[in-house]
Amino acid sequence: MNRATSIWDFTPKARLEGYNEVNIERINVEIQRNQQLGKEVRGRIAKFQRCIATYDLHMVGLKSDGTVIAVGCNNDGQCNTGDWWSIIAVATGGSYTVGLKSDGTVVAIGDNKYGQRGVALWRDIVAVVVGHSHTVGLKSEGTVVAVGDNYSGQCNTGNWRDVVAVVGGAFYTVGLKSNGTVVVVGVGEDIYGQCDTNDWRDIGPIDEEKFLATKQRREQEKKRAEEKLQAEKRREAEQRREAEQAAEQRRKVDQWIQQGLCRYCGNRVGGLFTKKCKSCGKPQS
Ligand SMILES: [Zn+2]
Repeated sequence: MNRATSIWDFTPKARLEGYNEVNIERINVEIQRNQQLGKEVRGRIAKFQRCIATYDLHMVGLKSDGTVIAVGCNNDGQCNTGDWWSIIAVATGGSYTVGLKSDGTVVAIGDNKYGQRGVALWRDIVAVVVGHSHTVGLKSEGTVVAVGDNYSGQCNTGNWRDVVAVVGGAFYTVGLKSNGTVVVVGVGEDIYGQCDTNDWRDIGPIDEEKFLATKQRREQEKKRAEEKLQAEKRREAEQRREAEQAAEQRRKVDQWIQQGLCRYCGNRVGGLFTKKCKSCGKPQS
């Protein structure tokens, strides 16, 4: 693969054009530097992604030292995270807060009306997400545990296998399987079809080859569509011009007829009885 067309290549074109001389070596170094930078930035974003969470009325932040701060509504004590430590990810539900600890256990504080804080015995958790009042833990072996409000069946993840990522909807739970398909439980009133993922395939991280192939295909499609549009515009302009020319020609002929000139060429007409054009010889009716 040509490295210069990698998805990590976001070297600004303007900067490359800024070089007085085209120095391939320097440009390559620049591209590599930006590719490296892109990877680092993306890695950092991925790590930061689980460090801030909100659902509704309160927000929590995971600090770089593994402690957790919280602001907002504390009616159920959901902001009392002051004594947490060794946290590596946070998530917030409707009125409670959960934290994933580096040892694979989970802590929770706040509303426990539905038993959504019942995570004390969880072990070997690699990701924790929540809905409104249910808590979901992804285990390293690819199974998923869930506690809390199960009115819509959102905790029925017991038979899930090969799961590599989880998301909590308000009243449902979503799992991404290692084969790129998606499983959902819960749903409740699925009036928008927000859980109709049955035909989803190939969900997963970016595959550079597929990414570039699609980029190329879509760009070509766009270019072809633009070319087609331009051609249509040209054809329309041509038709308009032809119509204008025809109208102009009709006006001219009308004028010739009014002036008693040949209707075909506009020259003088002669002959007393059978009027014929002196120039083109055509009889005038
Ligand atoms: Zn004539």
